[in-house]
Amino acid sequence: MIRYTLACEKGHAFESWFASADAYDKQAKRKLVTCPHCGSAKVEKAIMAPRLSTSKKRGAPIEATAGETPPPPAPAQAAPVAMISPQERELRAKLKELREHLTKNAENVGAKFPEQARKMHYGEVEHRSIYGEATPDDAKALAEEGIEFHPLPVLPDERN
Ligand SMILES: [Zn+2]
Repeated sequence: MIRYTLACEKGHAFESWFASADAYDKQAKRKLVTCPHCGSAKVEKAIMAPRLSTSKKRGAPIEATAGETPPPPAPAQAAPVAMISPQERELRAKLKELREHLTKNAENVGAKFPEQARKMHYGEVEHRSIYGEATPDDAKALAEEGIEFHPLPVLPDERN
């Protein structure tokens, strides 16, 4: 099968299928190819667009899409990964232990950490174990005032 895009004398474009290029020529010569819009038999090929038919009934040799390589799969979103040695596994377990110990035995003061740490340092409140959050600026100021504090160990899989 071959598909032609045809145009009549009035400029109507239409598509038609023919058994072969010869079949089109014969039908056109006998004025059997007519415009579906106006019925004119004065038609000619506009753009030749031969296509292999995928119809199995007509014994088409190949599927048009056969042999095409499938598109590669979209790359998955990258995630941070690490291979850790047994020693690091142990260290990680200890960090987790330390973190759990700290958070269990200390009071979470959240964003008030710098204020609480300062009060303790200057003797305004009783010394106790606290933990919370400090911005890099807060941390710098506390360090400059000679207030000792430690960052809580963060485990790799707990980072947001
Ligand atoms: Zn026409």
